[in-house]
Amino acid sequence: MNYADLAPAYVRAIAPYQPGKPISEVARELGIPERDIIKLASNENPLGCGEAAKAAMRRAIEEAHLYPDGAAFELRAALSRKWGVPMEAIVAGNGSNDLLDYIAMAYLAPGVSAVYAQHCFAVYPITVLARGATGIKVPAKAYGNDLDAMAAAIRPDTRMVFIANPNNPTGTFSPYAQIRAFMERVPAEVIVVLDEAYNDFLPPELREDTVAWLKDFPNLVLTRTFCKIYGLAGLRVGYMLADPQVCDMVNRVRAPFNVNAIAQAAAVAALDDHDFVRRTYENNRAGMAQLVDGVKALGLDYIPSYGNFVTVDVGDGAKVFNALLRRGVIVRPIAGYELPRHVRVTIGLPHENARFLASLAEALAEVGRG
Ligand SMILES: *Cc1c(COP(=O)(O)O)cnc(C)c1O
Repeated sequence: MNYADLAPAYVRAIAPYQPGKPISEVARELGIPERDIIKLASNENPLGCGEAAKAAMRRAIEEAHLYPDGAAFELRAALSRKWGVPMEAIVAGNGSNDLLDYIAMAYLAPGVSAVYAQHCFAVYPITVLARGATGIKVPAKAYGNDLDAMAAAIRPDTRMVFIANPNNPTGTFSPYAQIRAFMERVPAEVIVVLDEAYNDFLPPELREDTVAWLKDFPNLVLTRTFCKIYGLAGLRVGYMLADPQVCDMVNRVRAPFNVNAIAQAAAVAALDDHDFVRRTYENNRAGMAQLVDGVKALGLDYIPSYGNFVTVDVGDGAKVFNALLRRGVIVRPIAGYELPRHVRVTIGLPHENARFLASLAEALAEVGRG
C-alpha cells in the first residue's frame, strides 16, 4: 500500500514547509556547542519574552491539568477592551497560522480559488491547497504585493485574498492608502485576510487603525500574533478580528481547545507589557540600521524591510546559508519562496548582528558572490 497515493492529489501537491533550523539540530549535525550558535532564522524576539508573561505562565502551570477555556474569554475580553470591538468579532488562535487555516477551512473548498502574491508567506498556498481550492499566485512587483494585479486576478470563483503587510519573507510594505483603495475595489463576497504579524514594527507615521476599517469592510479579516513583538513564539498564540458572522463560521471549524491555557495567560499579561514592546521595537530599529549598514558595506543589495528581519541578495542563498551554518550562524534560505539568491536574517541583539555580519563576510570570501 502506498500511503502517499491514498491522500487526495491536492494534498500531495503541497510543498513541505521548510522551517528555520533549530539550534539543537545544528549542534548535533555540526558538532558545535549550542551556546556558540546563534539563530536569526525565524523572526523570533531577540529579547526573549517579557517578565510579566513569564510570571503569568508560572501561575498558569498550576492548572495545567485542566482543559483551557475553549472560548479564550479573558484574552478576548482584554483584546476587546484594547481594540474597542465586541468579543464576537475576535477569535483566538494557536498562533495566527491556526486562524489562517480555519478561515480557509470555513470558506474554501474544491471549485473555488484564492489569490496571493509571489514571495508570500508559505502558509497561504499550503492552507489553500489543503482545502482542495485553487491558488492564484500573482507575480510580485519590486518583491512586494502588486495590489492592482491582485485585484485584477480575482475571478468569479474567488472567495479569498491573502495579503501580508509587511510581507514575510521580503519585508515589503504597501502604504495603507493603497490597501484601502484595494479594499474599495474588491467585491464584498471576497474575504480579504490582512495578515498584520509585523505591523507592530512599523514606525508610527506608517501605521493605520485598520481595526476601524472593519466597520466599512465586513469582508476584511485582520490576523495578529503574539509570536513576534510579544516574544511568545514557542507558546503559539494569535488572534483574528473580523465580522461576527465570519468569526461564527471560524468557530464552527475550530478545534474546541485550540489555544492552551499557558499561552492564554501569557498573552493577556503580554498585552499590557508596553515597556517590553517598546524595548523590542527600539532594539529592532537600531538592529535594522546596524544590519543594513553592514550589508551595504559588503556591497550587497537587500530588500528594504519594514519587519523584524531583512532579506539580502548574497548571490547563492543555499551556499551562503551553509557557509554561515558552519560558523554557527543560522539564517533562512528562501529558494522555496522563489528567492534563490537571497537569505533572510532576523534582527538580533547588537552582538548577534555583528557576528552575523562578520560571518557573512567570511562566508562570501569562502563561497564567492554567485
Ligand atoms: C510569523 C508570521 C505569522 C505568525 O505566525 P504565528 O502562527 O502567529 O506564529 C503570520 N504571518 C506571517 C506573514 C508571519 O511571518
